[in-house]
Amino acid sequence: DKKVVLITGCSSGIGLSLAVRLASDPDKRFKVYATMRNLAKKERLLECVKGLHKDTLDILQMDVTDRQSILYARDRVVEKRVDILVCNAGVGLMGPLEVQSLDSMRRILEVNLLGTIQTIQAFLSDMKAQGQGRILVTGSTGGLHGLPFNEMYCASKFAIEGACESLAVLLQHFNIHVSLIECGPVNTDFLVNLQKVELEDATLQQVDAQTISFYEKYLQHCSSVFQNAAQDTEDIVKVFLDAIQSPSPAFRYFTTSVVPPLTKLKMTEPDGSQYISAMSKIIFSAEDQ
Ligand code: NAD
Repeated sequence: DKKVVLITGCSSGIGLSLAVRLASDPDKRFKVYATMRNLAKKERLLECVKGLHKDTLDILQMDVTDRQSILYARDRVVEKRVDILVCNAGVGLMGPLEVQSLDSMRRILEVNLLGTIQTIQAFLSDMKAQGQGRILVTGSTGGLHGLPFNEMYCASKFAIEGACESLAVLLQHFNIHVSLIECGPVNTDFLVNLQKVELEDATLQQVDAQTISFYEKYLQHCSSVFQNAAQDTEDIVKVFLDAIQSPSPAFRYFTTSVVPPLTKLKMTEPDGSQYISAMSKIIFSAEDQ
């Protein structure tokens, strides 16, 4: 029997690549429900899976901020069960905190945090009743350590860590495994889709010159990190596959072979001061910027 997989946020990026890989599995081990907020964006996914058999892929509308749409998609699953739920949909928000509107802050929590949680909620009872299941969540190193000018993004991703870790403690008793796939920078539409305060934005006039100069440095750092160190979605998909294929999956997977040094520093030096100065040095005092 095929494993039934439902993935959120499949119109681009990691979600799209994962859907394509699983739907085109050479052994046809998966039936994939690739969901996306806006079905008008399904062309890209369809392009990528061209020529595939229809029996491994279905595309459904699902906006993770809309409970009705989650339940509607859930009820379209022909097999009436989901073996592997992948909560992947997410957005970014970047800029000095003093110019972020309450609306944009709410929005990021609604998509990244509540969106993930209410998606899990919708499938939880059935998974418990089945006595088995996998919940995979696209995590971020921004959920493990703070990043300047990403306060709300990190807050949303830290919150997911707490929610998932809490769930994992209980769900192991139901044979349901929760795993976070912790990604560093990945080449996707994330940077295009994120809400970013541009240096030319009029709102920045309210911000002090020193913060703006730090923000400029941060933006340079960010673009150089994405240019030089970003992983491809295929690399991330491999890690998802590891987690999916493991008989006893770990709670946390890192998408690079080693735990990133800064993440380690945060864990080994719990008083936090070393992490804070190391991160500041990396972002704000590089000579070549
Ligand atoms: P992406 O922008 O290409 O993909 C995000 C997807 O989420 C998009 O398809 C978008 O339409 C969808 N989405 C947004 N709001 C939604 C909603 N309300 N309902 C349903 N779908 C919605 O970027 P990506 O990099 O593929 O992002 C996927 C996940 O990976 C996100 O959770 C992101 O936070 C996380 N992540 C990305 C990076 C990176 O550098 N790209 C790093 C760490 C973690």
